[in-house]
Amino acid sequence: MNIAEINKKILKLKKEKNALILVHNYQLPEVQDIADYLGDSLELAKIAVNINVENIIFCGVKFMAESAKILNPEKNVILPDISAECPMANMVKSEGLLKLKKQHPEAKIQAYINTTAEIKSYSDICCTSSNSAKVANSVDSNKIIFVPDQHLGRYTETLVPDKEFILWPGSCPTHHRIHKEDIFKLKEQHPNAKILVHPECRLDVINAADHAFSTNGMVNYAKKSDATEFIIGTEKDMCYRLKKENPEKKFYPIKSAVCPNMKKITIDKVLKSLETLEPKIKLSDDIMKKAKMPLQKMMDIGRGD
Ligand code: SF4
Repeated sequence: MNIAEINKKILKLKKEKNALILVHNYQLPEVQDIADYLGDSLELAKIAVNINVENIIFCGVKFMAESAKILNPEKNVILPDISAECPMANMVKSEGLLKLKKQHPEAKIQAYINTTAEIKSYSDICCTSSNSAKVANSVDSNKIIFVPDQHLGRYTETLVPDKEFILWPGSCPTHHRIHKEDIFKLKEQHPNAKILVHPECRLDVINAADHAFSTNGMVNYAKKSDATEFIIGTEKDMCYRLKKENPEKKFYPIKSAVCPNMKKITIDKVLKSLETLEPKIKLSDDIMKKAKMPLQKMMDIGRGD
């Protein structure tokens, strides 16, 4: 079957199965093209809350699909490849986190949304890359255990200097691989381009950029900015969406910034998931209840971009 035939089948099955296709900004271009909604992890998890569907096909990685399940417990959340996991989310385990909390009982645990449902269930509050400083300021303790992304934690620390941060030594392998030399090389070739990087990048990369934005922040900035050229320091397929929505502007990706886990979702697997309604995300009621609290606390605070 060619792409057009697969897409036709997907469209038909989507209606028959009362399904919604949610797609993260880092997905393959052909998967982005079949999205009902395209966005970042929190945006996608929240979208489904107000839409009357039975099945959510989540094209992203597992922790994102888990967040969608936590916010939509009565719906089936289907991840077309259950092995699509985020290595950074898996860098923090509950035993280690509880041990650290024991050493710092007065500290509050701020968990980046890129964590498993289990880690969220032990956390005081969640955050995204756009609201991490806003969330840290809201925490009723001067000491924060920040998990799992040391780079986002370090960046947040610079924005909230009056609090003490204990940083978990995790990082996103895709963003960790971006070096400021990669940015400078592109800047040399495109001197008028604005440099936008994700806060999961190293701090020296963030400091070399014009702006640090979540993927949603990049979408908004690229749309409104008078600039016509942008160097994009995040997963390379973010540029596909940016280019599609701003065809008159130019976007330069860091070509080596690829997340292999995001790329595990293909349109063939989406089609198979629509046919079988598998594999479903399964979480215990207890974990869902506990993990919802820090997510809800964060949502009450709102986005930062
Ligand atoms: S880009 Fe990084 S943080 Fe995002 S899913 Fe891939 S490994 Fe995880």
